[in-house]
Amino acid sequence: MKKNILITGASRGIGAATALLAAKEGYQVGVNYLNNHEAAQKVVTTIQNLGGTAIAIKADVSVREQVAHLFDEFDKRLGPIHALVNNAGILETQKNVVDMEVERLVRVININILSCFLCSQEAIRKMSTRYGGEGGAIVNVSSVAARTGSPNEYVDYAVAKGAIDTFTVGLAKEVATEGIRVNAVRPGFIYTDIHASGGEPGRVDRIKGNVPMKRGGQPEEVAKAILWLLSDAASYSTGTFIDVAGGR
Ligand code: NAP
Repeated sequence: MKKNILITGASRGIGAATALLAAKEGYQVGVNYLNNHEAAQKVVTTIQNLGGTAIAIKADVSVREQVAHLFDEFDKRLGPIHALVNNAGILETQKNVVDMEVERLVRVININILSCFLCSQEAIRKMSTRYGGEGGAIVNVSSVAARTGSPNEYVDYAVAKGAIDTFTVGLAKEVATEGIRVNAVRPGFIYTDIHASGGEPGRVDRIKGNVPMKRGGQPEEVAKAILWLLSDAASYSTGTFIDVAGGR
């Protein structure tokens, strides 16, 4: 039987790389995106050209009604969900805490944290043996920022990722007897568009000297850790983390 995976924010970056690897491993893939339909469709077409199955679904994962629509569409078009990757995330312009506007803080918290609650709630209702499901696995995409705090850049984002770590530990324990494993990856500096949203497209190359391995990471290197945590090879791992950060 084919397994079905939903990846939030899969039109670009780490989400897109995870979608492609998941398809290569035999999953049918739900590619969620917010605005960039063309990029999401490109991921879908690439998977279809490889002989796989994928669909693109637009939804803002920080809005409850849109998350409900996302899971309904997924269920209708692909079938029962087996794996969820809470990957969608945002950064805003580099600033000190003292200068961060309330609207920005709310956006960063809602898109990075609330989204994980909303998507996990939907997934649990479908996967949990307590609700008649067959079990499944969730991977949250946190960040090394949860440990470093990202001073003078994005403490708000780092705080949100710290919350994702706590969410991972707590939720893992809560659903451990319901056939659902919950883990997280914590990427370091990865070459994606997210740094441009923070106002510095070349950020990874500027700071890669601080990484023990002296290089930035590729989205595919994060995707491999995510797919491992979702796989049966990780069957006794829950509430844990893989740092994909070159030793940082
Ligand atoms: P990215 O290249 O900027 O891609 C972000 C993705 O999220 C896009 O697919 C975007 O969709 C989607 N998205 C944004 N807001 C959304 C929303 N409200 N609802 C649904 N989708 C939304 O980012 P990335 O670097 O691959 O980051 C992926 C995850 O890794 C994030 O959680 C990020 O915090 C984490 N991370 C990244 C790094 C890094 O160095 N890159 C390091 C540590 C952790 P559209 O294309 O439609 O805009």
